[in-house]
Amino acid sequence: MRPYNRVYATVNLDAVADNMKEMAGNLPSGTGMIGVVKADGYGHGAVPVAMTVDPYVRGFAVATVEEGVILRRHGVGKMILILGVTHPDQYGELIRYQIRPTVFTLRQAERLSELACREGVRAKLHLAVDTGMSRIGMEPDEASADMVLSMSRLPGIEIEGMFTHFARADERDKESARAQLAAYLNFSEMLKRRGIEIPLKHCSNSAGIVEGLPSNSLDLVRAGISIYGLYPSDEVDRETVHLTPAMELKSRISYIKTIRPGTPVSYGGTFVAGRPTRIATIPVGYGDGYPRSLSSRGSVLIRGRRAPILGRVCMDQFMVDVTDIPEAEEEDEVTLIGRDGGEQISVEELARLGGGFHYELICDLGKRVPRVYLQGGRIAGTKDYFQDVYEGFRRP
Ligand SMILES: *Cc1c(COP(=O)(O)O)cnc(C)c1O
Repeated sequence: MRPYNRVYATVNLDAVADNMKEMAGNLPSGTGMIGVVKADGYGHGAVPVAMTVDPYVRGFAVATVEEGVILRRHGVGKMILILGVTHPDQYGELIRYQIRPTVFTLRQAERLSELACREGVRAKLHLAVDTGMSRIGMEPDEASADMVLSMSRLPGIEIEGMFTHFARADERDKESARAQLAAYLNFSEMLKRRGIEIPLKHCSNSAGIVEGLPSNSLDLVRAGISIYGLYPSDEVDRETVHLTPAMELKSRISYIKTIRPGTPVSYGGTFVAGRPTRIATIPVGYGDGYPRSLSSRGSVLIRGRRAPILGRVCMDQFMVDVTDIPEAEEEDEVTLIGRDGGEQISVEELARLGGGFHYELICDLGKRVPRVYLQGGRIAGTKDYFQDVYEGFRRP
């Protein structure tokens, strides 16, 4: 392993496995799970996460064809579903890698059918039903049911699944999720009356899983944020499914000095020392995905104690107050997210302080942050981007 001393994120794969077991324990025995590993596994690294959750899932979900191909190239053999819209120009790649597109118009189904027939294969697809997101999917009405009947008669394709997505399942009031499920089930009945049985029905997201919604009794549920040990919101039940955050973000103090009263710190001089202040520089910034909105708001852990951020977070560095941590030294470990001693900084806390969103914060952790995978108390592997590969450029 390269010496990742500036900044690195650890991803505890044992926590990921524990989270899967916890969720499985809150599902009816016949229900399977889909592991959602879009956006490179919510910033954790899709491949190691997929390998870890593989024993617990029936398949995987991603956002783009490219994300699906990366999984296949790393040996993922189970079902892979693309949750968004795939451009027909990429249907060939889907077929080659046996990745399921989400389909909801006759035109999409016809294009897929034509290509599958030309290739002499059967392409599987999942239908998306719009029951309340107004994002993608067909309306759950009789006209759509007729359209699905037409789709079902096309050669070379097979309707493997059908899903909808809850807009508000993470809220305390489950009325909206209940109404969406009712619309979905009603649509499913319309299909049944036309002789169409959908093998894999799925609606629940992480919120549905941890809250034990009735949609957990369908064939599959889609676990996303919960895989990574975060709850979808502050309003969901944390007592039934116990999740452990998988990621920690670590750095080292690069420099320490004491500044005189009246000395400004960082861009804009938004913080001015009111007393002799011992400040430590941390070599991490918004260029790594550490939010600038944490300027003068967030804190880090050093030697198990909190050190508040002073002034603005820069692209690659920021300063913290270590006046009250006299034992702090240059090269000390710094915890930006995670535990140190009895203290803990959660992703949720940072999102709240910076006015951000916890899903976004982990997705946005940058390319400059190597991921270090821990398993059984040791380093099982790493992922970094230090050997960026470019194609098509020539030196002048
Ligand atoms: C992202 C996504 C999920 C997972 O949502 P979480 O809240 O992370 O569990 C499930 N289904 C669809 C369609 C999604 O886009």
